[in-house]
Amino acid sequence: MELPVLAIIVPCLNEEECIDLTTEKLLEILLNLEKKEEISKRSFIFYIDDGSSDSTWKLVEKYSLETNGKVKGIRFSRNYGNQKAILAGLLEASTYNADCYISIDADLQQDETKIPEFIHKYKDGAQIVLGIRKDRSTDGFFKRYTAVAFYKIMNLLGVKIKTNHSDYRLVSSQVVEALKNFHEINLFLRGIFNDLGFNKDYVYFDVKARKAGKTKFTPISLLSLAISGITSFSIVPLRIVTFIGFLMSFVSFILGISAFIDKLIRHNAVPGWATIVVAIGFISGIQILCMGIIAEYLGQLFQEVKARPRYIIEKKAS
Ligand code: UDP
Ligand code: MG
Repeated sequence: MELPVLAIIVPCLNEEECIDLTTEKLLEILLNLEKKEEISKRSFIFYIDDGSSDSTWKLVEKYSLETNGKVKGIRFSRNYGNQKAILAGLLEASTYNADCYISIDADLQQDETKIPEFIHKYKDGAQIVLGIRKDRSTDGFFKRYTAVAFYKIMNLLGVKIKTNHSDYRLVSSQVVEALKNFHEINLFLRGIFNDLGFNKDYVYFDVKARKAGKTKFTPISLLSLAISGITSFSIVPLRIVTFIGFLMSFVSFILGISAFIDKLIRHNAVPGWATIVVAIGFISGIQILCMGIIAEYLGQLFQEVKARPRYIIEKKAS
């Protein structure tokens, strides 16, 4: 049987402090697997420089030269965000005809020594192997709780993504071919891979602290990832809006009748100014919230309809 070609996909944004060690460790893992005849000697590392402003790309070009193309890469024309970097990594690396692809963060917070385990599961027939982190002890207070809430909300809304799977995963070339038919701009990869079906398996790993540099995600970018994850996979929030609207009109209808009865039969119309003010404030609040939810979907449509390129590649190293 022919050995599978493995491509390790690594998105990087300003990772000059990490990338030396990362390259060294990933190369070591590749060479070891090649020696044991687990993977083909054509296996490679594929960096996606997501518009870094530091020397990340210079380093990628250097590794590519030094390793004779064992390290390859592309550079985006600007920052497009981590999801598009991973997507581009999969699509572009597929031009080198790999058989399986593993995406991993450039800071190697995700335990890279588990890579052989992913390969074993792939060889046992899994087309998608999801890395699941065992706990969140290395996360800050804010991230830990918002992440847990996010997975809970997603599952409540009917998007059955796997809890605590961040984009450390193996996919087969067949899965990447299927991914090519998804043309949406706002990609939430965890949702897409879940949607694709195929044989899945899991690898459990510990998350380490970041060795160098700092996180490239801000609370705002995490929130925007969460919103696009929800709005691109679930229309339940829109249904909730409809339901709230229906419920509110029903309640006001009943209130109207009771006010009518008060006035005509009981003759005890209360001044009730405060109640009215509170009710108006509450109802306008809900209305604005509902409009906001609809606007989120409209915003998604707006971006999708334009169908602009999802990313632009400025340079290549191979
Ligand atoms: N990243 C990226 N583009 C971005 C933000 C992050 O390519 O706009 C990369 C980053 O270089 C890293 C991975 O995505 O390889 C995960 O980012 P980070 O480690 O900063 O996130 P955290 O682990 O703190 O969630
Ligand atoms: Mg990290």
